[in-house]
Amino acid sequence: MKMVMKFGGAAVKDAAGISQVVKIVKESTGKGHQIIVVISALGGVTDRLVELMKNITASKKSTIDASIEALAAIHIAAIKSIDDQVISQQVTRTVRSLLDDLKNVVMGISHVGELTPRSRDLLLSFGERLSTPILAAALEAEGIHAKALTGGEAGILTDDNFGSAEPLMNVTSMQVRQNLDPLMKDGIIPVVSGFIAATQTGVMTTLGRGGSDYSAAIIGLALKVDELWFWKEVRGIMTADPSLYPESRLIKKIAFDEAIEIAHFGARVIHPRALEVGLDSDLIYQIKDVWEPEKEGTHIIRFVDENDDNKGVVRAISVIDRVHLINISGARLVGTPRVAGRVLEMLADQDIDVLMISQSSSEANMSIAVPEADADDAMNVLELSLLGSKLVREITGEGGFCIVATVGRGMRGTPGVAANVFKSMADNKINIRTIAQGSSELNISFIVSRKDMKAAVEALHKDFKLDSMDA
Ligand code: ASP
Ligand code: MG
Repeated sequence: MKMVMKFGGAAVKDAAGISQVVKIVKESTGKGHQIIVVISALGGVTDRLVELMKNITASKKSTIDASIEALAAIHIAAIKSIDDQVISQQVTRTVRSLLDDLKNVVMGISHVGELTPRSRDLLLSFGERLSTPILAAALEAEGIHAKALTGGEAGILTDDNFGSAEPLMNVTSMQVRQNLDPLMKDGIIPVVSGFIAATQTGVMTTLGRGGSDYSAAIIGLALKVDELWFWKEVRGIMTADPSLYPESRLIKKIAFDEAIEIAHFGARVIHPRALEVGLDSDLIYQIKDVWEPEKEGTHIIRFVDENDDNKGVVRAISVIDRVHLINISGARLVGTPRVAGRVLEMLADQDIDVLMISQSSSEANMSIAVPEADADDAMNVLELSLLGSKLVREITGEGGFCIVATVGRGMRGTPGVAANVFKSMADNKINIRTIAQGSSELNISFIVSRKDMKAAVEALHKDFKLDSMDA
């Protein structure tokens, strides 16, 4: 089989993680599989780079040297997984030289005193640029021929929307094939940095936080691989968050569109953009636990057979915790279609995620759910621009909520699902504040108080018989 294997930062955070990845790749090639590896930064490294960036601009320059030293320590420790002295010394030099480059970039930004989106991407690229040669060297040391490539070197070309660049799929597909096929023909495993790519003129871009799943999907699509395996530190997608409901089950098989709904909610097992790539393809994804490689994880496929033993109206219960509810009211909302649009636009301009929106049919009321962390900013921007305009009478905010969602393809066109959801809540005396259903009918979401969060998940899990799904 030709396959992309993507290893996330949580899986590769230290020497033990790197050794485990090498073991997995070695076993797979031993079975005759053709592998392309995509790797993200070592665990926590991108967060450290973000922190470093904040310190440069906050002129806490004294912390910069210490931060870079800490990054050096993490990567040098990861190199300890490599026994071969020559290879280990070689990659240590590569890492040191990249860290020097990083320091120069940091100094440059610090002198200019301004952080542009372009320099931000350049700075963030170092996480993956450091991890990739280490993994390639670790494979070489085990006698597996490997070559480290940045996303751009592999052929992923994007627009220049720094921070969340979009791949130019046609040219990317062509370039990826041109760059990777010859390597594979020579028996060399490409080890590609996830998350980072390049514009057509070679400027470094990033695909957005968590974007190395996306890189893996782009490469998998370009090379028309048989399967993409996403190695995580969990076995797969669960019917509910185990920390909320310990009886939750592993979902063995799920369709891309269902998985997208789950991924947009709390449980970020896999990046939604990676799933979108699969949506119109015949690709097969699998999520697997890097520490239990022999176990089956979650298969994500285009279409789940309705006769499958895993069918069922509701496939999973998802939760977004810590939600703030903003109510906008005022008679002038009626017949003023621009208000809803303006509200969403203003929040988007502030980088505030609107988690849910609902409007009563009288249109005199509109509720918007935003993350609690953004509540103050959201209230400020809305009050400033809307109250003055006399379009609305009142804006109120209330915290302490969560969004609960039931997700499943089977809900589409099945009457009575919503009624059952609400009956389940009523039976447990859980008050629902706001309801929304996407037009895809794959998802019914509603807002309840955080204190009811666990009870709501448990009730739905039981009432929709997810407990008895075979694991
Ligand atoms: N290293 C990047 C991040 O932490 C990309 C990724 O991990 O997928 O956001
Ligand atoms: Mg990461």
